[in-house]
Amino acid sequence: MSETELPRHAAVIAGKSVATGDWIDVIDPSNARPVARVARCGSTEVHAAVEAARHTHETVWRFTEPPERSRLCRRIADALREEREQLARLETLDTGKPISQARTDADVAARYFEFYANALEALGGETIQQRPDRLAFTLREPYGVCAHIIPWNYPLQIAARTLAPAIAAGNCCVLKPAEDAPLTSLLLAALAERASLPAGVLNVVPGYGEEAGAALAAHPGIDRISFTGSRKVGELVMGAAARTIVPVTLELGGKSAQLVLPDFDAERAVPQLVDAITEHAGQNCSAGSRLLVHRSVHDHLVAALAERFAALRIGPGADDPDMGPLISARQRARVLGYLAEGARDAEVVVGGGVPEGAGRAEGFYVEPTILDGVTPQHRAFNEEIFGPVLCVTPFDTLDEAVVLAEHTTYGLAAGIWTSDVTAAHWLAQRLRVGQVFVNDYSAAGGVELPFGGYRRSGIGVEKGLEGLREYTRCKTVAMRSGPPA
Ligand code: NAD
Repeated sequence: MSETELPRHAAVIAGKSVATGDWIDVIDPSNARPVARVARCGSTEVHAAVEAARHTHETVWRFTEPPERSRLCRRIADALREEREQLARLETLDTGKPISQARTDADVAARYFEFYANALEALGGETIQQRPDRLAFTLREPYGVCAHIIPWNYPLQIAARTLAPAIAAGNCCVLKPAEDAPLTSLLLAALAERASLPAGVLNVVPGYGEEAGAALAAHPGIDRISFTGSRKVGELVMGAAARTIVPVTLELGGKSAQLVLPDFDAERAVPQLVDAITEHAGQNCSAGSRLLVHRSVHDHLVAALAERFAALRIGPGADDPDMGPLISARQRARVLGYLAEGARDAEVVVGGGVPEGAGRAEGFYVEPTILDGVTPQHRAFNEEIFGPVLCVTPFDTLDEAVVLAEHTTYGLAAGIWTSDVTAAHWLAQRLRVGQVFVNDYSAAGGVELPFGGYRRSGIGVEKGLEGLREYTRCKTVAMRSGPPA
């Protein structure tokens, strides 16, 4: 398809399509071909979007009563379900992920709107019994205009995760999707409009991070920022928030450990350990990327995992393989750099390069890889690779396992595999991470489960009821009371 024939997607500002002079090509990661073009927004469009959100908040949304907000959120959930297949196909085209994973993303996105549609009606403040002559209570109020900057790995899920509670709580939003995967964010805005969400409640400004993203984070009309992405950009966004004094949620990266004790249930653990690092080709913030395994079961477990890794089907997401490509040539080069270093520092048990086969060279594929004998001195042990690379390290005692688990600066999630309840409890309390799974591992775990990083994995919480409260602020009202004069 020539450049002029590619479908073009404009920004959505105050319910209108806004084209810009410049466009960004959207690339299909399975073959490196452009499939669409999106508007390249800059500070002008970001300003217009913030103004639109402010106007809608001041004139409509802050006066829209909770039952009506709830009804509208539920209608958005319905629209997402109706367009499940279209959303999934677009997400696969844009991100390269297997279509069945993209269908799950569409289902989860709908659940976010449904969950917060229900939860918002139970949101309320507290009464405070301070003195007999004073009645005091708190109100939970929306911030006003929220900025949402999201990454490319789970664009639809993360857009819904951050927008649904914000909108439900009474805020108006400006969303900046990632330049590598903006398509479902724009479709979400169209579906929200179809569901009768008032124009201006949700505005979408696609563009490059240094342009649209930086302009949005620094805009003085923003009352709150939610950023999901890399630690490096998170630092920049937090710097911008410091200058306008607004609260910021940072959902950053991870290097999550799976701790396997001698008495683990292999039948249950093996498939989940594989999924935890190969789902969306390991491009998952809470990927179980480090396997810390007791030395007594090390050989047996690594052999079982290697067998599964070698059997994984790799291919274009539309064919629904076990694993699709990485997002971009840049990301593949990055991952291959870690693999080259891993081959020098550790043992490559399986994988380690680019898969062979028809069409593999054009797309951004990497083999699912196990690196064994990775130590805390290696970069692969500490840094987020963001690819299908499992780093294995044996341990002898539980204390040693905790030290290894905590060696990175991240603290997003952890998995514990054991039949020993006491050990599981002890580890769950010891580990400084935001989510712990015992004999289970599902990245981020479900719409209802609060999710937020400890340490350098972030600040604040999204998902669950906690996620709704984060989009409100607390106002205290104290009233003098007493008998009439
Ligand atoms: P990224 O930080 O490069 O980009 C994220 C977003 O920030 C994009 O929209 C990008 O355009 C924008 N951006 C870039 N530069 C900017 C700037 N100067 N100012 C404002 N915005 C800017 O991250 P990515 O590569 O898209 O995503 C991968 C990262 O996201 C990984 O580290 C992953 O772990 C993390 N992630 C975290 C979670 C979580 O919930 N904790 C979820 C998914 C991904």
